[in-house]
Amino acid sequence: MTKDLTITKEYKLFINGKWVDALSGRTFESINPGTGETNAIVAEAGPEDVDLAVKAARKAFEKSSWALMTPADRGRLLYQAALKMREKTEFLAEVESRESGLTIRETLNIAIPETISVLEFYAGLANKVQGETLATSPDRLNFTLKEPLGVIGAIVPWNFPLMLAMWKIAPALAAGNTLVIKPAEQTPSSILELMKIFQEVGIPEGVINIVPGFGAVTGNALASHPDIDKLAFTGSTNTGRIIMQAAAKNLKPLSLELGGKSPNIIFSDADIQNAVNMSTFGIYFAQGQVCAAGSRLLVQDAVYDDFMHAFLKKTQSIKVGNQLDMSTLMGPQVSNAQLKRIESYVEIGQKEGAHLLTGGERYEGAGNGYYYTPTILENVTNDMTVAKEEIFGPVVSVIRFKDEEDALTKANESIYGLAAGVTLSEAYAWLAV
Ligand code: ADP
Repeated sequence: MTKDLTITKEYKLFINGKWVDALSGRTFESINPGTGETNAIVAEAGPEDVDLAVKAARKAFEKSSWALMTPADRGRLLYQAALKMREKTEFLAEVESRESGLTIRETLNIAIPETISVLEFYAGLANKVQGETLATSPDRLNFTLKEPLGVIGAIVPWNFPLMLAMWKIAPALAAGNTLVIKPAEQTPSSILELMKIFQEVGIPEGVINIVPGFGAVTGNALASHPDIDKLAFTGSTNTGRIIMQAAAKNLKPLSLELGGKSPNIIFSDADIQNAVNMSTFGIYFAQGQVCAAGSRLLVQDAVYDDFMHAFLKKTQSIKVGNQLDMSTLMGPQVSNAQLKRIESYVEIGQKEGAHLLTGGERYEGAGNGYYYTPTILENVTNDMTVAKEEIFGPVVSVIRFKDEEDALTKANESIYGLAAGVTLSEAYAWLAV
């Protein structure tokens, strides 16, 4: 696809507008999960590099041209970056697919365009931040003024590396903050490529700093750094808990976007084919590695057999394969660790009484990557582990219900509250593209 664009295989840290080695000289490898081979060699930031990055971000926040820039100029810069991203959509899609295992259809049609839309949205919002004036007495002026917070620490996951980073980068920059970002150790490349674009359009040095590395060391150094003003995290619920504790030690505010075990409810009056298409998208999109995945499929008794017949057929028709092949609908899981986790959940599910209707094994037809087959577990009840815990893979737990009340009760029997679905609309582009 993008033969004219070279894909960099070595990355450094990006601190204070410069590409630098880690002070320790350490590096780590990211893997192409479709082949199991090395994808990139990346400098590994230690606590001392994180500290330099936070200092650079602090300086940029207080003293650089960024601090003096008007909101309109900030918005214009961000918009220029969005335009450059559009020009490089194919390249960014390929970089991201290679490392994350998202299929090229997913990155090209959804992940990268959506990332750019987020940046465009916040570029437009930069000069529309407004406070309020409050009526008091004639001799007083009472108003609110919204100001940037300062240095934002962002820790992002691997399932949509660029998009989930952009959810933090775009609003933070539009408001005039500066950032230190730790990408997931599995997927640093696309975020580092994004920095080249930000550099090209002239975002001042120190405004964004990237410190790739592992969670327990690099992530922890950022989460517990005393000189960040706010922490933003997307990732697993367990890690969220740890990060909240780290932030609490310094009384830092934080935002968390964590896991889910979302019910996807099929009522008997649904258009069955639409419901099948949406349920397929709901669980197999991005290899099931979506926090809002429809991973508990609640199906009404009256249409159970018809729905399941069609859903099984659709599931078995999904083409699993290398993520860079345009005809692939489901690519590899992000890592071997993740693949093993999925296998163990499916095993536990069966031990606890779920029936494996299809899938439940590695897919061997696409080389040495971390492929798994689209999997349906039937006869699941909410007390089973596969209904309670997030599997983060292409495994759906099917639960029957009788009527609306039963559906609501079963849907709500979860510690999570992230998302829920009822089938209304037509099949999403994932299937149509
Ligand atoms: P997963 O377990 O699937 O890798 P995580 O939620 O652990 O998902 O990872 C999301 C992000 O959180 C990654 O960037 C990861 O490196 C980071 N992370 C993991 N553990 C910690 C930690 N103890 N402190 C800070 N960041 C962490």
